[in-house]
Amino acid sequence: MSSLSDLPLRSELKGRSPYGAPQKQVPVALNVNENTHPIPPAVARDIIAALAHAIESANRYPDREFVELRESLAGYLGHGLTAAQIWAANGSNEVLQQIMQAFAGPGRTVLGFAPTYSMYPLLASGTASRWVAGDRDAEFAVTPQRAVEWITREKPDVVLLCAPNNPTGTPLSLETIAAAYDATDGIVVVDEAYAEFMGSDAPSALTLLEGRPRLIVSRTMSKAFAFAGVRLGYLAADAAVTDALRLVRLPYHLSALTQAAAIAALAHADEMLATVRDITTQRDRISHGLTDLGYRPYTSGSNFVLFGGVADPHAMFEALLADGVLIRDVGIPGHLRVSAGTESETSAFLDAVARFRAEAEASSPVSL
Ligand code: PMP
Repeated sequence: MSSLSDLPLRSELKGRSPYGAPQKQVPVALNVNENTHPIPPAVARDIIAALAHAIESANRYPDREFVELRESLAGYLGHGLTAAQIWAANGSNEVLQQIMQAFAGPGRTVLGFAPTYSMYPLLASGTASRWVAGDRDAEFAVTPQRAVEWITREKPDVVLLCAPNNPTGTPLSLETIAAAYDATDGIVVVDEAYAEFMGSDAPSALTLLEGRPRLIVSRTMSKAFAFAGVRLGYLAADAAVTDALRLVRLPYHLSALTQAAAIAALAHADEMLATVRDITTQRDRISHGLTDLGYRPYTSGSNFVLFGGVADPHAMFEALLADGVLIRDVGIPGHLRVSAGTESETSAFLDAVARFRAEAEASSPVSL
């Protein structure tokens, strides 16, 4: 068998690693920011009925324009948005990929602010775009000045702002988004994958769309909606943006089953989102618990917590895994990330951390 290095791979893909969060069977999986609460059984029954109906006409291609789904998504988002301003794809990863295909590409630059979502550089290299990693302050925030400085220096065609940011959980101010928009002639994408965990009073970039035709707000049903397995991401923007994305999407990219499941789930948005408050409660419990144990959690507006003060992240990761708790080493020295789970999963995590802490202190009292 030949190896990857024997193949005539595109030069910008040489030496790259694929997205690779471990998919392990463990009792407590808190590593990929999923919603670990199951879909309410009554809602699941409705979704199953919708799927059963959709399969009867699956001999035909699905609605290429997914009009009903776009209407449902517009209704869910509110803010006076219409179906013409909504676009969707198989997860917000695919939405972001389509944005890159339309607005980035060879000779073009994509700017993000690291540490940020690990797929951004891969989406850039996958579309042969230049990736520029801007930076963040000590609290992982991006101020308006910092955003404008990087944009002025690098002249990006696409700016990716993750709000709240993965893997740090850091919220992003509307001032930074507006300043970034004014500093560029390019596309500004605000990735609001975790927006629902900011709380219902928190301002969304959706409020900035009016009068900003190059602004895109990306969302997903994977997190707050507990729908990661269905693969449904979407965006809101000026209607011209959705026209641009029609140029790059594959025909019929959203299957009839995906459309039916998402429409049925959106009809039950309140029940689907009922776990959000519990998750944010568990997130705050994690932050307090880690602080009590001597670690340094960062402010999070999402369903996960990044924490520092970890002397040996690899040792802690492995110790928790041995206890059946899978978290994430996101490659920031001295830090680890954990997703907020159900109450009992969160307890399992905090108990495992307390055990690790006690053992680490017993074996080397000065190392932490
Ligand atoms: N954006 C961010 C910031 C994410 O963390 C993720 C998933 N971890 C995604 C987008 C993609 O999610 P999905 O494709 O499931 O919508």
